[in-house]
Amino acid sequence: MKAAVFSYPPGVEIKEVDPPKIGRGEVLVRVEAAALCGTDLRIARRGHGGIPEDSSRILGHEFVGIIEELGTEVADYQKGMRVAVAPNFGCGKCWYCIQGLTHHCLEGKSLGITMDGGFAELVRIPEKAVAQGNIFPLPSEIEPNKVAFGEAFACAFHGALPLKMGVNDSVLIFGVGPIGLMFLELSRLYGVREVWMADLSEKRLEMARSLGSKTILIGKEEIPENRFDVVVVAAPSPQAQQSALLAARLLGRINFFGGLPPQIKEVPLPSNLIHYKELTVVGTTKSNNFHFRSALELMLTGRVDLSHLVTHVLPLSEIEQGLKLMEKHEALKVVVRPDY
Ligand SMILES: [Zn+2]
Ligand SMILES: [Zn+2]
Repeated sequence: MKAAVFSYPPGVEIKEVDPPKIGRGEVLVRVEAAALCGTDLRIARRGHGGIPEDSSRILGHEFVGIIEELGTEVADYQKGMRVAVAPNFGCGKCWYCIQGLTHHCLEGKSLGITMDGGFAELVRIPEKAVAQGNIFPLPSEIEPNKVAFGEAFACAFHGALPLKMGVNDSVLIFGVGPIGLMFLELSRLYGVREVWMADLSEKRLEMARSLGSKTILIGKEEIPENRFDVVVVAAPSPQAQQSALLAARLLGRINFFGGLPPQIKEVPLPSNLIHYKELTVVGTTKSNNFHFRSALELMLTGRVDLSHLVTHVLPLSEIEQGLKLMEKHEALKVVVRPDY
């Protein structure tokens, strides 16, 4: 089968590989649509600790497809069913897994990162993932491209939970990328009073405005201080983290959602602001099956419409082109299709 294979020195190549074989408790999924994410771009260019230097990996952790084959011991699904697959699963037994926090399992695995994933014609869903409920049936009429990035939205959904957004809140989001725009939709869903988005790019802010957000062009326009109840930093920017503490008002809630590049070890923060403004500063990362199912439900019931985030749909064989579009900030979500 055709697959986009990552290997060192860091790079992704389209290769012909053996199709995966499944065991008794496993499921084989024929991929219809898989979305590219910032993580894929980082792995493609710099590698990943979960991929040893002497090995290779089929990337792709955001995907939907059709069940091609079921192991003899799998009872809950049927051949031909359209499904979304959550990529993270845990050991099932550790302190985090018993709380359902499988995304924090120290023995946890991720399809498309520590195991082969969805940038291929077929993907094997391991027994533990099947048993933990990582396979989520979709209505057969749903357009696969529109829900392929469920995992990314699950991470944003997760990130919104500790912010406890409500009708009185004024929200500021740093970063008009796919994640920032997901937070825009989520804050609407929570019925907040107003949403502002801040970015370095006027072009991106134009899009934020077209979606009803107020905007701040960083470097040109002042970021109001002591103004926002909720601040989301959906950008890999230490300056945005610093600004977030200033922008938050008394009792503000802040999520440092975006990770920083590994070379940035420390960021000076005016910690007295956390004390005197009684700020809550949290970070969130990844998502578990609860976040994934909640996110998919929101998309499937139309309570959140994210279809505008898919700016490009390409054949799987043109994945490098998709990565380049992301690198140049010319794309939001790129979906690749093995069947094109
Ligand atoms: Zn992702
Ligand atoms: Zn575990």
